[in-house]
Amino acid sequence: MDIYINSILKNPSLCDGTGYRTVLFVQGCDLQCKGCQNQSAWDITKGVKREVSELAEEIRSRCPNKELTISGGEPLMQADAIYSLITLLNDFDICLYTGHDKSEVPQKILDKIRYLKYGPFIENLKTMTMPFVGSSNQVYEEVDHETSK
Ligand code: SF4
Repeated sequence: MDIYINSILKNPSLCDGTGYRTVLFVQGCDLQCKGCQNQSAWDITKGVKREVSELAEEIRSRCPNKELTISGGEPLMQADAIYSLITLLNDFDICLYTGHDKSEVPQKILDKIRYLKYGPFIENLKTMTMPFVGSSNQVYEEVDHETSK
């Protein structure tokens, strides 16, 4: 299975979810929020096509602490490939950033992730003070695996 990616952040980040996280930016976004800082990730045809298992091996070699954030673009545009990737990285602590609502995240993905940031970026609600979100309407949370079923 293939996945279209934008990039993998060169150094781990303290700003993209709890911990010291390697960040995978997936290519393609179907939301196109006004004021988006990452417009180069909108057009999926401009992404780099990668085979999921080969990408998983690269992430293993680049992410020794196994803390990975998947961002975009909009990862849920390629939900099947994301599911395959996080299944191969089953021993990783995964954080998923989506602009969609939590109710739109497939349950099988929710079951495999630890943290979720959800909601679209809204320019006039932009915040520099709330951790791990770009606008105050967005929610960042640890997934409760008991009640998310
Ligand atoms: S969901 Fe993210 S990448 Fe997509 S337009 Fe909104 S802010 Fe940009």
